[in-house]
Amino acid sequence: MTNMNAVLFEAHGGVDVLKYAEAPMPQPKKGEVLIRVQACGLNHLDIWIRQGLPGISLPLPHIIGSEIVGTIAELGPDSNRFKPGDRVLVAPGISCGQCPACLKGRDSLCREFKIVGLQINGGYAEFVAVPEKNLIPLPGQGLKPEEWAAVPLVFLTAWHMLITRAALQKGETVLIHAAGSGVGSAAIQIAKMQGAKIFTTVGSDEKIKKAEVLGADVVINYKKTDFAQEILRATNNRGVDLVLEHIGPDTWAGSMRCLARGGRVVTCGSTSGPKVELDLRFFFTKELSVLGCYMGSRRELDQVIGLVAEGKLKPVVDAVFPLADAAKAQAKMESRELFGKLVLKI
Ligand SMILES: [Zn+2]
Repeated sequence: MTNMNAVLFEAHGGVDVLKYAEAPMPQPKKGEVLIRVQACGLNHLDIWIRQGLPGISLPLPHIIGSEIVGTIAELGPDSNRFKPGDRVLVAPGISCGQCPACLKGRDSLCREFKIVGLQINGGYAEFVAVPEKNLIPLPGQGLKPEEWAAVPLVFLTAWHMLITRAALQKGETVLIHAAGSGVGSAAIQIAKMQGAKIFTTVGSDEKIKKAEVLGADVVINYKKTDFAQEILRATNNRGVDLVLEHIGPDTWAGSMRCLARGGRVVTCGSTSGPKVELDLRFFFTKELSVLGCYMGSRRELDQVIGLVAEGKLKPVVDAVFPLADAAKAQAKMESRELFGKLVLKI
């Protein structure tokens, strides 16, 4: 086989630039293996890459997709840990493994850090070549490929945000924005496991019950109620210890307003735009902290995968689309009318 089917884009832009077409079969280089993709999760990152990211120029055409589950199709020239047919999940982060950040286990700070689907072609395709060291073996039974594909990036990011960066403690209060988003639905489960009291927001009443089932204690429909005001009311004007942000300008002012003294905001994204304002007077007098988060480390991913395999964390899949309908799936993601993850089945 010299060609495969893939969804690619030849120029940055809206969903209509995504084309279901033939692409050259990837050839695994030294240290790489060829994966036959079974399922690939969608992320907001996919949309940002499709639209074009400042400072990153990609060779085009490009194939996105960072959450890949599949089987080994072909081993590379020097690979030996796996055999053809083995079921694997691809860790999305690629790092050098040798620099001080990598040696400290903080690989997402590696200066050579890359993400599968961003700097290299990803999983919106029948096949993908990835470094063998990125493969995580999956149990033969249990979750389906499309459920596993809803795990890596969002659970890793949510874990890194709540546990590693913000050090969420038992008994603390946390606001997790957008229970229906991938990172929100993962974060609620992790915060629950940690023993925190969870406030969350949804954009429609139909999502309230689903958020409660995941473990949220107080669910606020942000279209009907000012979430910051509601949190201040519910906490007797104290506010929450931690806010998990990924929305940006639409929610930022409220997120800062409903923080308790000594509170912290941890952010991994900005789906409503890149810039926010910070009122320094409240920032220093309340001793607030703002923490950035970019994915997480391989060690944390292994931990999260273990918790999913034990059934302690559960992937939340809203819908599964065939590969050819990737543009439709991204349009649904942009509409925000979903609860959990969208996944392509290949
Ligand atoms: Zn490194």
